[in-house]
Amino acid sequence: MVVDKFNKSTSNKKILGMGKYLTKQAYIFTKKETMKLSRSKIDLFVECPRCFYLDIKMNIKRPPGFPFSLNNAVDHLLKKEFDFHRAKGTQHPIQSGIDAIPAQHPLIDQWRNSLGGGVSYYDVAHDCTLYGGIDDLWVSSEGKYHVVDYKATAKDIAVSELPDWANGYRRQMEIYQWLLRKNGLNVSNTAYFVYCTGDKKRSDFNNTLHFETHLIPYLGDDSWVDVTISRLFELLSKETIPEHNPNCPHCNFVKKQKEIL
Ligand code: SF4
Repeated sequence: MVVDKFNKSTSNKKILGMGKYLTKQAYIFTKKETMKLSRSKIDLFVECPRCFYLDIKMNIKRPPGFPFSLNNAVDHLLKKEFDFHRAKGTQHPIQSGIDAIPAQHPLIDQWRNSLGGGVSYYDVAHDCTLYGGIDDLWVSSEGKYHVVDYKATAKDIAVSELPDWANGYRRQMEIYQWLLRKNGLNVSNTAYFVYCTGDKKRSDFNNTLHFETHLIPYLGDDSWVDVTISRLFELLSKETIPEHNPNCPHCNFVKKQKEIL
């Protein structure tokens, strides 16, 4: 079986954080079995090596966020729409003007099921399985595959281009492109966001949320993924916890609390 393996030491070894001791319990990372690392953990490393280290090596995880029930509902309904056209081999109306239809690949359901492993790749060098669940896969008439991600939001003005702040979305696409290439697929650098914006300007709700949907192409570059995976394993081999980001509101919240209390 493939599992994450952690052992919790009962020793009183102290762990240094923000120049102070965070806890007296040490969690010792013992990688005895093949490790599994999700796309979001790779992204956590890029965002903050310290948060990544605390999560993977010491099993101290960020508090979970709230479930995005409405976004999940939009994803679910979009999936049904695209599956309808996938079964018939036809274009969805949003694909008009581009050379792509929903891909009929035998592994599509497996690749869309992130809880069931999604698209996975076993990295021999690090004895680690990397994985992530895609939203959709489209294919061109030349057999090139396009990674597709659904996004849902609500704003006064519909999102028609990828926001500047959305680097996490860009990395997400590029990790999926990387994973699918590792699975031998002929993957195009062009990925697509199906971006649905709920209209907040309407006069009433009337049990209906209206959306404006835009197809946003994104030219991915996955060349950073291999080097990032090597760097994150290098970090895991070290004993020193990386410094926190002085601009991070979460760490500053803890720091202020400690100062006051
Ligand atoms: S700086 Fe922010 S992101 Fe980094 S460890 Fe602290 S809470 Fe996590």
